[in-house]
This record gives sequence, C-alpha cells and structure tokens, in this order.
Amino acid sequence: MMAPTARSAIYDIAPYVGGASAIEGRDQVIRLASNENPLGAGTAAVDAYRAAGDSLFRYPDGGATALRQAIAEVHGLPADQIVCGAGSDELIALLVRAYAGPGDEVLYSEHGFLMYPITARTQGAVPVQAPERNLRSDVDALLAAVTPRTRLLFLANPNNPTGSYLSRDELEALARELPDEVLLVIDAAYAEYVEAADYSDGNELVDRHPNVVVTRTFSKIYGLAALRLGWAYAAPEVIDILNRVRGPFNVSAAAQIAGEAAVRDREHVARSIAHNSRWRTWFTEQLARLNLRAEPSVANFVIVRFADAAGAAEHLKQNGILVRQMAAYGLPDHLRITIGTEDDMRAVIDALSNYEQ
Ligand code: PMP
Repeated sequence: MMAPTARSAIYDIAPYVGGASAIEGRDQVIRLASNENPLGAGTAAVDAYRAAGDSLFRYPDGGATALRQAIAEVHGLPADQIVCGAGSDELIALLVRAYAGPGDEVLYSEHGFLMYPITARTQGAVPVQAPERNLRSDVDALLAAVTPRTRLLFLANPNNPTGSYLSRDELEALARELPDEVLLVIDAAYAEYVEAADYSDGNELVDRHPNVVVTRTFSKIYGLAALRLGWAYAAPEVIDILNRVRGPFNVSAAAQIAGEAAVRDREHVARSIAHNSRWRTWFTEQLARLNLRAEPSVANFVIVRFADAAGAAEHLKQNGILVRQMAAYGLPDHLRITIGTEDDMRAVIDALSNYEQ
C-alpha cells in the first residue's frame, strides 16, 4: 500500500523550520530565535484570555466583530476594511491562494520572509526574487522583475531578517509604478518598533491604491505569538476576496478576546517599544566594542556578521542562548538575534566576549 501522491509543486517545498526553543539537557534557555516580545503579553490580554475559558463550548464570532472594531478604533480605520486571520501567516497564505495559480509569479525581495516562496509553491506559482542593495529592498529592482505573470508582490517593511525598511516615499513610488493587476502586500509585522519619521506602515496607501494590502500581527509587539492572530487592511474588493477564501471560524475565541484587550492596552505597547529601542541600541554598541557588525535595524532583532556564523551559533548554544542561523535566507554569514530582556542581552555579550572568531 502506498499513500497517494500530492500535486507535484508540493514536493518542491522545504518545510518552514521555526526557531529552536529548547536545548537538550538544559532547563534555563535564553530564546532569541523567533522575535518574540521579551516582556511577554500584557496583563489585560492574559486576563481576557483566561476569561475566555468560561465559554469554550461556543463557536467564536466568525466575523471577529469586536476585535475588528477595536483595531479600527486604535488605528483610525474603517472596521469593514479589516479582516482577521490565524497569524499573518494565514493572511499571506489566503492572499496567495486567492490571487495566484499555477505558473503565476509571486515576487519578493532577495532576503524576504520565507513564507512568501513557500505559500507560492503551494499554489504551483513561481516565487521570484528581486535583488536587494546593501541588504535593503530595492524599488527599481522589484519593478524591473515584474512580468505579465506577476500576481503578487510581498514587501516586508521593516524586513525580516535584515531589519531595514523602505521610506514612505519609496513605498509611494512602488505603489505608483506597479501595474494595477499586481497586488502589493505590505507585511508590516514589525511596524510598531519603527521610530523613524520617514516610515509609513502603509495604511495611507490603501486608500489611494486598491491593489495595496497591509498585513499586521499580534505575535510581536503584543506578545501573543502562541495565539496565532493577525489582520489585514485593504480595499473593500480585496477584503471581500479574503472573506470568501478564509475558514468560517479562522480566528479562535481566545485569540479574539485577548487580541481585543491587547490592542487597547497602549501602555504595554509603549513599554515594549521603549524597551526594544533602549536594548537594541545598547546591544549594537556592545557588539561594536567586540568588533562585531550588526546591520542597522529598526525592528526587534538585529543580524550580526561572523567569520563562522554556525560556530558562533554553537558557542551561544553552549551558553544556553538560542539565536537563528540565516542560511535559509541567503545570509550564511549572519545570525539573527532577537532583542530580549536586559539579562538576555547581557548574557549574549558576555558569551561573545569569550568567543574567538
Ligand atoms: N511576516 C514577517 C515578516 C514575519 O517575520 C513573521 C513572523 N516570523 C510573520 C509575517 C508571521 O507572523 P505571524 O505570527 O503573525 O504568523
């Protein structure tokens, strides 16, 4: 007996491997491999999550009405132009499923997020990479890579793993020059961390360009990665498409109730931003003192160049610290290190102080 064969394109997919979360034989591990919020979730979100336990037998609201309303109020957007998903991963997958078919092209930047090519392949679509310049997405290169078969362009802004971003003007130029038939997905998973004045999360583009979608996540600034919650903001036509392809109850009741509390808890957001900004600066300075180069980052992680990145990752692991190797992102000489707690960052610097490159 043999299991049936899947569609041939599926065999081209290398499964997504998340950051490691455990080290054998060690109870205490410093987890800096997945860009999670080191302050955890806010107490309001945790309390709301616990209260959700009282009605587990009920189906969730399939339209996530209260959650969308809260997001709409906080961001100053119309609630009916928002759709929620089980993580932004699900929204990315739904967009690809709805807009790309076999032989279509899904464009993204050279060091872009791995779920873009993976989800493209699930549809038999062809992932196409545009080259970056100095570890930054390049508007001209992205536009030059557009062909009549291009259906979607994914741009993480800021980008994971490089930590770089495109300015408001560059985003405007991209949206203006891109053919109307191509959906521009601005993946703003790390938007809250950016303090640069010339940054835009992309929402303002949606109103002028019906082919622009912005995706956001609750996994980073809100510290709710375990719940799987994200949202998208787009023109009504795109929202209609997402509502057709999503599952009827794609966001759990616990995620909806905790997400609503989290989005209204602006104090936790402010605290998380301030923490990240302070310790990212400190960490980058300390690395420089050790003659290590961190790429400038506006997000909650930095990539650091090593003569032997695998050796450095192993050294950190022996010190109980998990970081992410970047070979799968085309950056074999870099490690990506999440900004953790003060103790976490001091532990990384201590460990690297004893490391001979
Ligand atoms: N986009 C980017 C750029 C990311 O880095 C991540 C998380 N690694 C995601 C999307 C997915 O986030 P979520 O947890 O919301 O699925």
